[in-house]
Amino acid sequence: QDVQFSVLGFGSKAYPDFCAYAREIDCLLEKQGWDSRLTDLHTVNDKDVDELISWIHDWSSQATIALASAPAIYSAKVVGLTKFKVVAKSAVSATNTTFTLVLKPASKINMQSGDLIAIYPAQDQRERFYSIGYKDGLVQLVVKLFPDGFGSSFLYRLETNQTLQARVMVNPSFHFPKAANAVAVIANGTGVAPFLGMISENESRTPLRLYAGFRHRNEMTAHYVDFADEQIKLGHLQQLELAFSREENPQYVMDLIRRDALYFVELLEKGGCVLLCGALRMQHDVEHTLNELLLAHVGKTIADYKESGQILTDCY
Ligand SMILES: Cc1cc2nc3c(=O)[nH]c(=O)nc-3n(C[C@H](O)[C@H](O)[C@H](O)COP(=O)(O)OP(=O)(O)OC[C@H]3O[C@@H](n4cnc5c(N)ncnc54)[C@H](O)[C@@H]3O)c2cc1C
Repeated sequence: QDVQFSVLGFGSKAYPDFCAYAREIDCLLEKQGWDSRLTDLHTVNDKDVDELISWIHDWSSQATIALASAPAIYSAKVVGLTKFKVVAKSAVSATNTTFTLVLKPASKINMQSGDLIAIYPAQDQRERFYSIGYKDGLVQLVVKLFPDGFGSSFLYRLETNQTLQARVMVNPSFHFPKAANAVAVIANGTGVAPFLGMISENESRTPLRLYAGFRHRNEMTAHYVDFADEQIKLGHLQQLELAFSREENPQYVMDLIRRDALYFVELLEKGGCVLLCGALRMQHDVEHTLNELLLAHVGKTIADYKESGQILTDCY
């Protein structure tokens, strides 16, 4: 019996490989002999309802199974929203495009650093996620401001005491591994957000190092240095290691990892954990570097440590 196929991909054009998986599947299905195409490949950017409806029309004109095509059905109201009040916001400058936003939930809500907050700038189905750094009932976000960015400029326009509705998404695979004997957290750019909370909350003084990469040395990175000094005094953090990619002697976090190869290999071999947060590109490069080091020193691959839950990632 001939099998007909129709591929619909969902994604965001903010990523260079927009709907790459859908394209791949579509190509693979095209090459099989046992099936035939029902519709062209359709993609939906950023939950765009019109693009979804366009696929539904195409599908409905070919298939015998009718799908509802009223846009209202697909613009479902978001549920599970919590009210937050803006407690503080920092400013961007000519040398720094990143700002922090501190939010206080209106009611008690279960969350911890590493969870995500979803915001709805136009109160429709389009959402943007930000990583939560949580301490003493307050949520701290670190956000890169994109010119005309739908989510980032919405957050930047918020004023102190203003409220917003947002959804907290528990992200259990990226919580601080409390049982670990030692932890290294690695970030680039805004990826530092959850780690600021995890460090502040490291009351049990798990040996903890922060490796972070930024483009430039600026007021934001100076703030991280002050924060780290304070946390080192409290015993919450052992070391802060910074890499700047657009300063004299450019460095990336991968260079720091290579320099501290023995520390990372020993950390993982002795059951410690490595957490990664930031750009997907950084995740790829850090994992590649760790893999090389592990192969050279102990003949293992990063997959071994991922399998045992020692490498946790939350990259975007
Ligand atoms: C799990 C998760 C956690 C996240 N955590 C954070 C966080 O803690 N802090 C933070 O700042 N962001 C975080 N993001 C990214 C955030 O959700 C938004 O994608 C980001 O703020 C840009 O959205 P925007 O609406 O402002 O820009 P858009 O309106 O979507 O895009 C505006 C312009 O910016 C470009 N752009 C958008 N995103 C990127 C990107 N990532 N790299 C390069 N160009 C881009 C677009 O191509 C476009 O030209 C996270 C994303 C995910 C999936």
